[in-house]
Amino acid sequence: MSRRPSERLRRYLQQWLEQFLLNPSESADQRQLARESGALPLYGDLGGLIAIHPDGTVLTYEWETSRSEVTDERWTVVALTNGCRKHPELRELLPPRTASALDCATCTGTGSLAHSVTCGTCLGLGWHEPEAD
Ligand SMILES: [Zn+2]
Repeated sequence: MSRRPSERLRRYLQQWLEQFLLNPSESADQRQLARESGALPLYGDLGGLIAIHPDGTVLTYEWETSRSEVTDERWTVVALTNGCRKHPELRELLPPRTASALDCATCTGTGSLAHSVTCGTCLGLGWHEPEAD
């Protein structure tokens, strides 16, 4: 992911991280990882956790191996669209919608399916590029 957060967003990310660390209603596992890594968790599932550093680096932490690696583009979008629900300012890191993009029919452009599951077709963006054929 090549997009870098603006100075303003970097400051927000620092603040959100501090709030996250102090919030007892967040999961203890996630807070410990956030404390150790200095990154704000955006998306977690049974396999791991995707978190963003204030400098914009997005890393995936695996629970089982305790290893981390740079998150691929697809999962970065999923993590950011999830993070946007809580922190709409993260939108600046998402790919901009292009003129050729179509509204996502799977989720009718909302980005999520029932029970706020992220739409797998558009990764939560609500739009996608036309299928290349
Ligand atoms: Zn969709």
